[in-house]
Amino acid sequence: MLYRKIKGSKIFTGYHFAAADDVLIVQENGIVEAIIKEREAGEGIEKFDGIVCPGFVNAHCHIELSHLKNVIPQHTGLVGFVEQVIFKRDAGQDNKHQAMQDAEMELYNSGTVAVGDICNTADSIGLKQRSKLHWHNFIEVSGFVAAGAAARFENATKVLQKFENDLPQCTNTLVPHAPYSVSKILFELINNETASKIISIHNQEAAAENEWYKNKTGNFLALYKNLGIDISSFKASGKSSLQSWLPYFKGNQKIISVHNTFINEQDIAWLASFIINIDSFIFCICPNANLYIENTLPPVELLVNSNNKIVLGTDSIASNKQLNISEEIKTIQKYFSGIGLEKILQWATLNGAAALGIDDIFGSFEKGKKPGIVIINDEGAKLLL
Ligand SMILES: [Zn+2]
Repeated sequence: MLYRKIKGSKIFTGYHFAAADDVLIVQENGIVEAIIKEREAGEGIEKFDGIVCPGFVNAHCHIELSHLKNVIPQHTGLVGFVEQVIFKRDAGQDNKHQAMQDAEMELYNSGTVAVGDICNTADSIGLKQRSKLHWHNFIEVSGFVAAGAAARFENATKVLQKFENDLPQCTNTLVPHAPYSVSKILFELINNETASKIISIHNQEAAAENEWYKNKTGNFLALYKNLGIDISSFKASGKSSLQSWLPYFKGNQKIISVHNTFINEQDIAWLASFIINIDSFIFCICPNANLYIENTLPPVELLVNSNNKIVLGTDSIASNKQLNISEEIKTIQKYFSGIGLEKILQWATLNGAAALGIDDIFGSFEKGKKPGIVIINDEGAKLLL
């Protein structure tokens, strides 16, 4: 069998940096064989300028919104952003497909090998049938009008069935959109359907979301008014958004909580007492999208101290200048300089793979896995193999 012997200025294994004289040995098809010492590797070592790292896992993307690149201005705030997505997301199928293809190329070329992708429609199925990436499709349900819950749920279930029929190689699960867009009854329907599954939810993306749950006041009132949504059945819980929605999930779901921009210390303390299994609740952060929409960032040190695992996402290209995990890493390094690169690379690789339940193949350089190989240097990140 033919092997490739790969050495960088450093090797990141998925867990930590390997020793300076270590070499990664992979089969020609990218299946990992071992990490060994350079003196034992023999001839033909390929040397790269940069960190050799397993392929990235982007745990939160919306590939079907790719045609909204450069359409929505920055710093609108979440309410303005959500309104613009609703009013501007329609486009011709050709435009959508070209934009999705371009976005997929950008993901692939910048070292992403697997994606947790939010889907409201079946638009991305064709792309995913031919894709080199692994996709976990989160079929998203929303609907804040209690009376419409059953119909919304049924529609999303039809989309899910289409994904299951047409993409048997993917994992596909129903998920709630966000605490401000899912009614209590719809949360209960989703809970019943998702026992033991991997779900995601946009959590505490704006300060207004907490205000809404605490007092039924704030910016979301304007959103519901503009969209003609009847909010009479909603009752404020008097608690933060997280503390209001998480108790709806009683089925041992694994929950990827996305954004967490306005989570606070009380929420973290409450979470630690509420959840039984720490691996059942994962924080996904999308810092460049938070800067784009709200011009703010999540309290990353607080999330690190919670001991829950952290993963990275880009969100959609509607709220990001690129779909490139190495740019998210750079932003975290820039604003949170106390967090070491080793930790952030774990979030980008092994933690993401574990969150999506694909760490048997992706996320680390361990014998038998085929995680993809990325070279990270000053020019960015590139998929080597
Ligand atoms: Zn999102």
